[in-house]
Amino acid sequence: ATRVGILSLQGDVREHARVLTELGAQVEFVRRPGELVGLDGLVLPGGESTVIDKLSRAFGIQGPLRDVIAGGLPVLGTCAGLILLANRLADGIAGQETFGGLDATVRRNAFGGQVESFETELEVPALGPPTIRAAFIRAPAIEELGPSATALASLPDGLVVAAEQDGLLGIAFHPESTGETRFHQRFLDRIRGA
Ligand code: GLN
Repeated sequence: ATRVGILSLQGDVREHARVLTELGAQVEFVRRPGELVGLDGLVLPGGESTVIDKLSRAFGIQGPLRDVIAGGLPVLGTCAGLILLANRLADGIAGQETFGGLDATVRRNAFGGQVESFETELEVPALGPPTIRAAFIRAPAIEELGPSATALASLPDGLVVAAEQDGLLGIAFHPESTGETRFHQRFLDRIRGA
């Protein structure tokens, strides 16, 4: 089976585990560097990017994570996970770091705070119909994408909210919490070389 790690320091780990298990992947919960060994892919969950960043350093896994991502491990990041996957932040808090990999500039809380959270129907041409029910919860957005990355979904105003670059897939919303499995399926297909 395809072994997919979920970084389990904080965030919506169980939601990702449920979707991946449903799609036939073998899920591993990752907190320590040694748990990165032998993975076919990795998920960075939604949650709070500043907390996950700090905990990753406390657990000594920040450096190893950066190394495996730079080495080509496929990674799916949602919401806080997208922030952690970005090479550049538009508005990180002082001292906030990311793991990097995705050649993009990401803005945290691009739509405001918790009260500005919203759900909307999104067209994602790469996934085909029907549209995606997307939950934006204190969500980030992608302000700038480098030449090697491709936008997968945008809001009507043109703001990019999902992008892909080789094995890296970054999503500003939470497909794992609305029963949407097509992004995870696309990620698994990428891992399996389909
Ligand atoms: N605003 C959060 C952050 O900066 C992300 C919110 C989420 O993952 N739902 O990490």
